[in-house]
Amino acid sequence: MDGNRLRDEIVASLRQEIEAASQAAVCLATVLVGNDKPSQIYVRNKHRKAQEAGMVSRHVELAQNATQTEVQSAVRELADDDSVHGILVQLPLPAGVDVEAVLDLIPPEKDVDGLTERSMGRLLRGRVGHVPCTPLGVMELLNRYGIETSGRRAVVIGRSTLVGLPQVLLLGRKGCDATVTLAHSRTKDLAALCRKADIIIAAAGMAGLVTADFVSPQATVVDVGISRTAAGIVGDVDFDSVQEVAGAITPMPGGTGPMTIGCLLKNTLAAARMLGAFPR
Ligand code: NAP
Repeated sequence: MDGNRLRDEIVASLRQEIEAASQAAVCLATVLVGNDKPSQIYVRNKHRKAQEAGMVSRHVELAQNATQTEVQSAVRELADDDSVHGILVQLPLPAGVDVEAVLDLIPPEKDVDGLTERSMGRLLRGRVGHVPCTPLGVMELLNRYGIETSGRRAVVIGRSTLVGLPQVLLLGRKGCDATVTLAHSRTKDLAALCRKADIIIAAAGMAGLVTADFVSPQATVVDVGISRTAAGIVGDVDFDSVQEVAGAITPMPGGTGPMTIGCLLKNTLAAARMLGAFPR
């Protein structure tokens, strides 16, 4: 399942929509605190793709030693600015910065990363709001590749609020209708559990965790994990052995990462609509 191709399709279709409504400037703002290299790369890619989609993008960068007050006032300024529609605070923030206090300042309409407690509450309650981009990107991949979820058994490996927990909610909610098991580091005999699954979503951050013996023939395997090794970026899935067994599989890189960006941009256009700044 080719995430790069789907991301390019999403970007092209957003561009068309934005160009068709020529008066509307859709703006994504990012906040980056500190000098974490992967975060710098992620933010740069998000801006590049936002511009390709015809969006305006703003970037606020603060030093590694920025104070809580400085980070909060940067986010508050973007929250109060009517020309900004989506706000993304790149995580992780440096140690010592209270993440929750920062996220609390993002209004739910502008929370295009879907990570604030109000967005999470909306997802749980089935109300309109933004859904975290990575699990949303996984759903889009499954959907676009025609992977049936209804009545299927899914295992999600990882229980973070960023990926695993919202993934479980999305797969299990009405309309998607998978029967979902949430696995984590205390799960016993993960391989046997996964072998019973039609769909495996691996989001543990442990290189090569999912091997061929985890996968039943023709199962769908989606790799979210990212590990930086001497050999480059690798996922949670041992791609070479698993592709021999799986019916569908994502590469890493080139699978869920680009879909995360595609969904961030979709959320940003949705944010502009929610705020009445873009025609419905
Ligand atoms: P996280 O907060 O560290 O959570 C990892 C989860 O995996 C935890 O729930 C942990 O269990 C579980 N886990 C760890 N080792 C395990 C094992 N051996 N067996 C079963 N479960 C295990 O990480 P995260 O933020 O969710 O991110 C997960 C991975 O996805 C990371 O590699 C991250 O870089 C990547 N990521 C990718 C994208 C993308 O666009 N592709 C986006 C975001 C994140 P416990 O709860 O028991 O500790």
